[in-house]
Amino acid sequence: MKSKVNLSDAADLHMHSTASDGTLSPAELAEAVKKAGLRAAALTDHDTLFGLREFSFACQKLGVEPINGVELSVDYPGEMHIVGLFIDSQSERLEQDMENLRREREKRNLKMLEKLRECGAELDVCDLLCQKPGAKLENCGRPHFARALMAKGYVCDINEAFQKYLAKGAKCYVKRAMPSPERAIEIIRNSGGIAVWAHPISVSDKPEEIARLAGELKGLGLGAMECWHSKHSPEFKDEMIKICKSEGLCPSGGSDFHGENKPNVPLGIVCGDMCVPYSVVGEMKKVLED
Ligand code: AMP
Ligand code: FE
Ligand code: FE
Ligand code: ZN
Repeated sequence: MKSKVNLSDAADLHMHSTASDGTLSPAELAEAVKKAGLRAAALTDHDTLFGLREFSFACQKLGVEPINGVELSVDYPGEMHIVGLFIDSQSERLEQDMENLRREREKRNLKMLEKLRECGAELDVCDLLCQKPGAKLENCGRPHFARALMAKGYVCDINEAFQKYLAKGAKCYVKRAMPSPERAIEIIRNSGGIAVWAHPISVSDKPEEIARLAGELKGLGLGAMECWHSKHSPEFKDEMIKICKSEGLCPSGGSDFHGENKPNVPLGIVCGDMCVPYSVVGEMKKVLED
């Protein structure tokens, strides 16, 4: 579906590539960003900085402003994710922290394969890795499990794979060790970035509760919160903007594009048919400078 929204003064500050669980390579993603007409874009792969150099280089060649990002899952009821934007992709300390998270991911992935086999879904490491050219087990996410389950005929689509086997609470879900919200915010700030609470709707759909949590996270160093996201309705986005204002957080947002791993999420488009105004990028840069 071709979007009618003009994205020339818009940004997409949440996207995934093949470096984690997206299906476009960083360079292909930069081309898709250019084609969509976006002014700026952030690559925010899970637990890895691996795609940032390729993405940044390709964006610069195409005249798009690249922003270095990363997304961390944190230990909190529901699914709490913290995105880091404007991080230093060359920081050795940050790379070491990401490496530790990927070790935990690898352990979790092995346990999840075992559980799937116990449930009659015969998958092995090769079935996972062939969903992801050049991959290592440490970079595979649940979407790769979903695709492997589809490829072997255990499920018809990604949704069914999550519902039956992979979602939190489903029979083959395995929790991995994750940093606390405090630690994730610290990791991001130590690398010069701004910490953004991603898609707060994954924790609660009640604005009052989000406001309370946003205040607590702000006390731990949170700098921004996603208002625009593909999971947020326009009304919910407005509520989130109000919370950002009252809590002194920068508004942020992005599509959470994963290519074919989330086929219904287009790049650059959020909250139905909206986009993230480029002005939020300037606001965040200003906070980082101060
Ligand atoms: P992981 O980091 O390996 O635990 O996988 C988390 C990723 O799985 C998320 O970032 C999404 O890309 C994807 N995901 C989580 N829940 C669902 C769901 N219900 N349907 C489709 N994708 C999901
Ligand atoms: Fe993902
Ligand atoms: Fe997320
Ligand atoms: Zn994401």
